[in-house]
Amino acid sequence: MSIIEGFKIVLFSVASRYFIAAGLLWLIYYVLIRKKIAFKKIQLRFPESKDYKREIGYSFISMIIFAGVPSLVLFTPLRQYTQYYADIHAHSMLYFWLAFPLMFILHDTYFYWIHRAMHHPRLFKLFHLVHHKSTNPSPWAAYSFHPLESASEAFIFVILVVVMPITKIHLGIFFGFMILYNVYGHLGWEIYPKGFSKNWFGKWINTSVNHNQHHQYFKGNYGLYFLFWDRIMGTIRADYDTKFEEVKGRIAEKEQREISNKKQGITNEEVKEIFNAQHSMSNVQ
Ligand SMILES: [Zn+2]
Ligand SMILES: [Zn+2]
Repeated sequence: MSIIEGFKIVLFSVASRYFIAAGLLWLIYYVLIRKKIAFKKIQLRFPESKDYKREIGYSFISMIIFAGVPSLVLFTPLRQYTQYYADIHAHSMLYFWLAFPLMFILHDTYFYWIHRAMHHPRLFKLFHLVHHKSTNPSPWAAYSFHPLESASEAFIFVILVVVMPITKIHLGIFFGFMILYNVYGHLGWEIYPKGFSKNWFGKWINTSVNHNQHHQYFKGNYGLYFLFWDRIMGTIRADYDTKFEEVKGRIAEKEQREISNKKQGITNEEVKEIFNAQHSMSNVQ
């Protein structure tokens, strides 16, 4: 396949995944059920339409880079330097499945360290400021990067196909899950349950609250899928658990009213009981 043909196919799959994942979640959360769930939004305010436009605009450029890098590697003689393989039986099935966790750990490690590097004052403005223009991110922010950051992010593709044997199926599933998790990280709502940030499993898993705090404060919480590196390096925000519990503990105004009515109901009954008791006592006297 020629590089142009290959590029078109990869671009179509990158773009369709972005528009389906970000578009669908944006439509559901920011349009269809927006009013119903507004009280649960991690940051209560909503982004403005100029924010969505900027996020989608930069994502367009990123997608060209995200399609360009794999095309350059797989559809040119550069492919001979990779371990890309077409026949899935060329390696054991055990390896086939083991490759997935390996890919995510590798990507998370690569992301954490380049992300921290991009927060260095010397690199921040040039590489990473565009992504941080979304201080209250929406799903569209998933690929909202400066082209220099996009190129750095896209380099994970090169690392993966060079360091480990990989098939088309690995790439499809891995990048499909990557965009889903990326969109979830910028969703603006938390979907993991209450207590997740503190339990034995959730402690190590990145959440939407975690990444939202990174966008809001610019400091701490640098991970992608996991929190291993943030916990090891002590870069997890001290207020992360508190924020997580605060967001998950919020209740709707309607529910709040019901609770306070119920409370008042009990109080009224108590008042009645006291009144009756006093009345019957005065009758006895
Ligand atoms: Zn950052
Ligand atoms: Zn982000």
